[in-house]
Order: sequence, then C-alpha cells, then structure tokens
Amino acid sequence: MPPRTHSAWSRTLGQLALVLGVGLMLGFATGHVWPVLALTALGVVAWHYWRLRKLLVRLTSRRHMPLPQGTGVWNELEGLLHEQQDDVRNRKRRLVAMLRAYRAAAAALPDAVVVVERNSQRVQWFNEAATPLLGLRYPQDIGMPLGERLQPLQVAHWLSRGRHAEPILDAPSPVSPDMRLSLRLIPYSEELWLLVARDVSKMMRLEHMRRDFVANVSHELRTPLTVVHGYLDMLDPDEQPEWAPMLKEMQHQSQRMTQLVEDLLTLSRLEAQDGVEEDAVSMASMLATLKREAEALSQGKHAISVSDEAGVDLCGSTRELHSAFSNLVSNAVRYTPAGGSIDIRFARDADGVALSVRDSGYGIPPAHLPRITERFYRVSTSRSRESGGTGLGLAIVKHVLNLHQARLDIHSEVGRGSTFSCHFGNGRVLARETTQVGAPA
Ligand code: ADP
Repeated sequence: MPPRTHSAWSRTLGQLALVLGVGLMLGFATGHVWPVLALTALGVVAWHYWRLRKLLVRLTSRRHMPLPQGTGVWNELEGLLHEQQDDVRNRKRRLVAMLRAYRAAAAALPDAVVVVERNSQRVQWFNEAATPLLGLRYPQDIGMPLGERLQPLQVAHWLSRGRHAEPILDAPSPVSPDMRLSLRLIPYSEELWLLVARDVSKMMRLEHMRRDFVANVSHELRTPLTVVHGYLDMLDPDEQPEWAPMLKEMQHQSQRMTQLVEDLLTLSRLEAQDGVEEDAVSMASMLATLKREAEALSQGKHAISVSDEAGVDLCGSTRELHSAFSNLVSNAVRYTPAGGSIDIRFARDADGVALSVRDSGYGIPPAHLPRITERFYRVSTSRSRESGGTGLGLAIVKHVLNLHQARLDIHSEVGRGSTFSCHFGNGRVLARETTQVGAPA
C-alpha cells in the first residue's frame, strides 16, 4: 500500500474510534450507553452508504466531476479512481486521434485499399480511391462479397488463394476496361486481408509504345541489313586480297547485326503473345535437332551427349520451344572451352518433366544469376561478343517458358560449368505418340 493510502486508512480508523468514543461518553452521560452507541454506529454506517452512493454516481457519470476535498479513505478511493479514469480517457483520446490519422492517410492514398474479411471475403472498409478504381460505393458495398462487387473482373478464385495469390500485374478495371490495374493481396492478420489496387494504365501505355518502337525499328532495320549482307557476300576477297580481313570483319559484324535484329523481333513477338499454340511437340525429334545443332556449332570441339529418359512429349509451340532450347544449347557450346562436355537431358522430375542442358564451361558467378535473364545482361561483354552473342538469348528463353507456364532453374559454379533446366508441369506432358508430328525443321 503506498504511504498516502496507508495514512488515509489510519486516519479513517482514528475517526471511527473517535466517533465511537464520543458516542460512548454521551451514553455514559445520559445513562443510555447501548442505545446511544447503537445510534452512533448506525450514523457511521449511513455515512459510509452515502459515500458509496457518491462513488457509484462518479463511476457512472459521463460528466467530468471535480475531485472531492478531504483526507479520508473514501476521498483517497475517489481520488485514485479519478486518476485512473483520467488516464483511460487520455489514452482513448490518443488512440482515436491515431486511428483517425491512419484512416486519413489510407483514404488519401492514390491506390485503392480494401480491407476484406478472410473467411467470407466480404468488404469491411475501403478508401476513397476504391470508388474511381474499383467502383466500390459507400456505404452500400460494406459487408458485400468482394468477388461479386468487382464483376466482371474474375477475382473470387484469386482471392481464395490468400497468401499464395500471386500479384496480378495487369487487369481491366471493373469501372472501365481501358483502365488497367495491378492487384495485390496482403494478408495482414489472421482474419483480415488487404487488397491494394494501383492504376497502371499510363505505365502499360508506355510499355506498349516501347514494344511497338522496338518491333518497328527492328523491322525497319531488317531490309537494309539484308541488302548490305547480300552485297558483302557478292564481294570476292580473292580479287582484292588486301581487303580480305576487312571484308571478313564486315561480314561478321553484319551477321551479328542480323542476328540481333532477329532476336529483337523474336522477343517483340513473344511479348505481344498472351498464349501459345498447343501443338504436340515431338521431343524425340526435338532432341535429335538439338544434337545436330550442337554438333554443327561445336565443330567437334566438345563431347556432346543427349539422353531421353522421360519418354513423353510436350504440349506447346514447337517453334518457340525449339528457339528456347537451342538458345541454351548454343550458350553451352559458346561458353565451354574446347575439350569440354555438353549433356542434353530430358527426364521426369517431381512435378512434371525437365529439359536440362549441362556444360563443363566457364560457369557464372552467383552474383550475376538473379539478373542473367534480363535483356542485354552479360557476365562478360567481351566473351559474349567474341562468341557471337546478342545478349538476348536467355531473355527469349524466359519469355518462351513463361508462355508455357514453365520455369528456368540455373545452377552454376565458376570454373566447373552450368546447368540450365526448363521445368514443365504435368499439364504440359503428353504421352508419346508412335507417329511423330510437329518436329522442328
Ligand atoms: P549472350 O547472347 O550474350 O550469350 P544470353 O542472354 O544468352 O546472351 O546470356 C546472357 C549471359 O549469360 C551471357 O553473356 C553469358 O555471360 C552468360 N551465360 C549464358 N549461358 C551461359 C553458360 N552456359 N555458361 C556460362 N555463362 C553463360
């Protein structure tokens, strides 16, 4: 007990003793000891009831009541309760102010923010931007199922994936299909999710313009390059032997430019595609073609092996898959010094099949791996140029695999070699047919 409370308690006991003492003396003076003492005790009890009532009034009152003056235990009790009430009121005020500030910040965000109840997928709260971006209206949409309110946008299935829901990078807004949105689902507590939608229309338009620009420039470059290439081929180095090294270099560079333009056009075509053809891709023919190409590129400098352990075919675009695989094979040959080995293997794995290209070449330092599939990203620019690389090969591989819902895994050790594996899910696996069709040329 704190000293202040202790002294109040002692003072009240002292007062009680004093009152009972005075009652006793009065009793003796009047000759009626017991009745006077009983009356005094009754008075003390009544006074305590009166203080108890005052305390109840203070506790239930919504008004701010002044602190009572005095030193007894009841005053001490009221004082303590008054302090606690003040403390709670202040805390409440601070919390409300904080909550208002958070709500105001969320409301002022340019992105749409919607709080969704996890189990029922019903809307709990949304900010102002959710109205122009998602078409949600206050108050009628509070408590409504979000999937239903965002129609014709099909998000019910996506919402049900919860923390496993991948962000949607480009989707039409329910308000207008011209407005493009990126959607992200953030589970922020056991019961609540946050849906954040951002207007990416401007970014998408710019991206579209960039793609068109690259595709048009590449296309325009193709014809003049073909002409230059054609004339260079017609020039005979034997007629002017002193020009032979220059001619050779010019031919080499014009070939490199042609390859660059072709790769840029391939990338533009892949970027513009939403899906791929669903051919039955004959993997036996594909592997035979890859072997032939590897041998032609290597010109006997590497030991090349091909193994087909899966015994199945793939469903997808023969042309695009061939382009991806042959890029991996060409890299393996170009980044493996003479005398090294290259193994192409098609085998089943845990959840589908994988085509992997393993080499015993230079390898890639781990720091470069996260960016290796970006266009024009090279570990060594000089080595890439020397070997005739355009810096677009792995970007093409990544795009082709994305279109087939497949993934690229890269394992590499500097000085020991690299393995590039393309993993296809079971949905892309086809039982092998006896008559093979759709083999790449
Ligand atoms: P490039 O046309 O330059 O080969 P890619 O996109 O195909 O472009 O590859 C990007 C970079 O990744 C290359 O420049 C090279 O440094 C590295 N790389 C790709 N494949 C291999 C490999 N099998 N071994 C070592 N490095 C590789």
